[in-house]
Amino acid sequence: MTTPRIEVDLSKIRHNTRCLVERLKSQGISVTAVTKAVCGHPKIAQAMLDGGAVDLGEARVSNVERLRKAGITGPIALIRTPMLSQVDQVVRSCDNSYNTEIEVIARLAEAAHKTKSVHSIILMVEMGDMRDGIMPENIEAIARQVNRIPGVALKGIGANFACLSGVVPDAAKMATFSTIASEIEGACGPYIETVSGGNSANLPWALGHLPKGCINNLRLGEAILLGVEPVSGNQIDGLYTDAFTLIAEVIEAKVKTAPTSVSFTDPALAALRLVPDNIQSVRSIIAIGEQDTDISGLTLPKGVTCLGATSDHMVVQTIRSHARVGSELKLQMNYSALMRAMAAPDIINVIIGETLPWKPNSASRDDPRLALV
Ligand SMILES: *Cc1c(COP(=O)(O)O)cnc(C)c1O
Repeated sequence: MTTPRIEVDLSKIRHNTRCLVERLKSQGISVTAVTKAVCGHPKIAQAMLDGGAVDLGEARVSNVERLRKAGITGPIALIRTPMLSQVDQVVRSCDNSYNTEIEVIARLAEAAHKTKSVHSIILMVEMGDMRDGIMPENIEAIARQVNRIPGVALKGIGANFACLSGVVPDAAKMATFSTIASEIEGACGPYIETVSGGNSANLPWALGHLPKGCINNLRLGEAILLGVEPVSGNQIDGLYTDAFTLIAEVIEAKVKTAPTSVSFTDPALAALRLVPDNIQSVRSIIAIGEQDTDISGLTLPKGVTCLGATSDHMVVQTIRSHARVGSELKLQMNYSALMRAMAAPDIINVIIGETLPWKPNSASRDDPRLALV
């Protein structure tokens, strides 16, 4: 089979989504499934929807267009504030977008007006992570402006944490955000449909026992795809962490003896003695490199250690067996490795676990099982 490849188990993605959707439902919180790390892969997106996500969130218009071309018709939110140069595409392909600039909102409104549609706006509030967001003291005035512009409708407000500055969404921050949401509702109501509290980093707060205020949505990517909570890096109870497996091929396997005297291009390297003197080691080269993924974000099988990587090669050492040329190595990826590998042109995706388990009440008339009756 072609290597390198990513094997994607859709049944695990469906399971992870369903678990999170059910746990959050009891807290009054819906799930927007974020597809940016998988470049808007339509089958993965569909598995998230099958698992109960209410809608999809994407950061790039090109990925949204990929989802639309594949026939995904449900609501999609653009979760990165739109580029001024893309307002027409945004209005055409997304039902709503997260915004921080009134100039962009005004242009989205014009674009929507041209097509006789109304584009929904979620205003992103700056809660301390210092990436995207409107300062809390300005949010009400901007919300009022949005309400006055024909072509757009104020759908909600959102916050984002733990991205640029690693600000953790604790109970106090979430209570403040909830208060902001109710103030906006008071000023611009009758009601604000979506109060989106954050991303996977919000799960410890969301699944905890403290009140959730008026927060009724989270946008989840990493937790669904990798089954981990990003702040601690811990596995989330009952979720799969191996829905994705990267498989790469061995192209060299030798017992190598480092030359006894080597000259280094950089004296600092000589001081570090990265090439040990006269030590034999079983080394293999894997045909994958920094151009394909984040090598430092890979977990190797037991007994295999990474000695280093360049743009196209990863050199590993094996303790027991000598990997044969042509054999395959299974690697697990963290978020950064996954995101880059999914976007790498030389890595193909192989989908497994595609069929949904058969449910008696979901049988349709063209189901082959019914042809026997
Ligand atoms: C990436 C992103 C998310 C999803 O983050 P995860 O940590 O993958 O859950 C949510 N919201 C915004 C605005 C994002 O950029």
